[in-house]
Amino acid sequence: MAKILVVDDIQDNISLLCFNLEDDHHEVITAANGYECLDKAAEHCPDLILLDMMMPGISGTETLARLQQDSSLRDIPVIMVSANDADDFIIEALDIGALDYVAKPFIYPVLAARMRTALRLRENQRELQALNKRLSKLASLDPLTEAYNRRHFLELGNTEFAKAQRFHRPLSVIMLDVDKFKAINDTYGHPTGDAALKQLTQLCQNAGRSSEIVGRFGGEEFVLCCPDTDQTGAMALAERLRTSIEESTLDYDGSTLNYTASMGVTSIQEDDKSLNDMLRRADQLLYYSKENGRNRCTTDSDVI
Ligand code: GH3
Ligand code: MG
Ligand code: MG
Repeated sequence: MAKILVVDDIQDNISLLCFNLEDDHHEVITAANGYECLDKAAEHCPDLILLDMMMPGISGTETLARLQQDSSLRDIPVIMVSANDADDFIIEALDIGALDYVAKPFIYPVLAARMRTALRLRENQRELQALNKRLSKLASLDPLTEAYNRRHFLELGNTEFAKAQRFHRPLSVIMLDVDKFKAINDTYGHPTGDAALKQLTQLCQNAGRSSEIVGRFGGEEFVLCCPDTDQTGAMALAERLRTSIEESTLDYDGSTLNYTASMGVTSIQEDDKSLNDMLRRADQLLYYSKENGRNRCTTDSDVI
């Protein structure tokens, strides 16, 4: 059973088609002209449109063109149903984006067979789109923590860098590394270390606004890209995050443990050429935090 939108300005044509389609257990929605077709397509998201081509108001070809221009409607297959069997007319409609053409008066079993082909195609397309969505999620997330992986973080971060530069907006980066993480693995075991990294990701994701981009940069190293955030704001965020890490407790597999993290915080500067320049500076500032006792945040103004 599929959801079919039947578009025709002649009520008798609609009634006849509805009778056949409902007999085949399809759900039928009807529209009497092109405008109604566009509205109903958007409202009901049908699996297939049977489109009469000669209608008052906007023509079938124009309706088809408008369906194609709308990215949310473009994927709905359209079979033209028309008494006009001129070659030029059929070619034009197929070129605009119709999937198939059936001449009026039609023989219903033939139309039904063409509909089955269109519906099969639509189903395959849906499966591919779902698979693509899953693949792009897999390609962008770190499998353990589900933070963005390094590649995807850089993709998003570079876009933010370009925006900040073009519109002279502030942008900050926080580089974070867990303190003495090797000791956590050695003492409690690798699975507990993994659980700590997952918890840490949650803390990073909850620390700021939803516009913050959180990536896992390496083993126990994370990075936050903070759009529209100046150095003061980024330092406040980093301190809040540092405190939340210090104060949170991890209960896992019978063990209870605490851990801390060190951070390097930097903001965009006039002569930065790319996000990489900011990341390099944040890394040096992180190193400074490590050298100066760990469980601390260091920003540009702290080292001048
Ligand atoms: P420092 O304070 O100087 O950063 O010390 P550290 O022990 O955190 O740093 P070091 O670089 O010596 O050790 C990092 C450790 O992180 C070693 C590595 O086994 C561990 N690690 C990296 N990735 C993972 C992971 O996915 N899971 C677990 N459990 N451990 C990881
Ligand atoms: Mg570390
Ligand atoms: Mg490290």
